[in-house]
Amino acid sequence: ELKVKVCIFGAGGVGKSSIVTKFIDERFLPEYDPTIEDFFRKRITLNDEQINFSIIDTAGNEEYSLIIENWIKESNIFVLVYSITRKLSLKEVQFFHDKIQRFFDCENYPKVLIGNKSDLFTKREVSIEKGKKLAKELNCKFIETSAKTGENINQIFYETILLEIERLKTIEN
Ligand code: GDP
Ligand code: MG
Repeated sequence: ELKVKVCIFGAGGVGKSSIVTKFIDERFLPEYDPTIEDFFRKRITLNDEQINFSIIDTAGNEEYSLIIENWIKESNIFVLVYSITRKLSLKEVQFFHDKIQRFFDCENYPKVLIGNKSDLFTKREVSIEKGKKLAKELNCKFIETSAKTGENINQIFYETILLEIERLKTIEN
């Protein structure tokens, strides 16, 4: 059984908790307590492999608690989220990436940059090109998602887990 620990980061309001809830139990909550910092677990079967999946949903404020610091150090997948409807939230991704790197050299681990709220395309402030550009700079995969419609939510986690399986295979050999 493969143990996968995931961190999700991004500015307040970009949809981190909504993404996690949608993936864990396929619900979309129109309102979600912004102060909640929580752990979730799920068993996943992917390409015949059993995955013990766990994720920490961060509130994204002030300095990280020791819990988050330790979680970062044990994590193997990093998810960075911005909202396509808020330009500033893309800038803030860089800040979260720097913060992670203060605790842990995440360079060789799967990382993904998420442009969330793709259903709100009429309010778009961040082009796909801008998102892709930052993803390239940070050496991340790039996906646009909607926690509301569910678009690409499973892909965030399935694709990064597959990358992690690949990474582990290269270490073994
Ligand atoms: P967090 O602070 O990053 O955890 O953000 P939340 O998950 O609490 O979401 C903030 C607000 O955005 C809530 O009102 C959500 O319902 C809403 N929201 C989150 N994801 C989406 C999305 O993909 N589309 C739309 N339309 N709203 C979303
Ligand atoms: Mg939240």
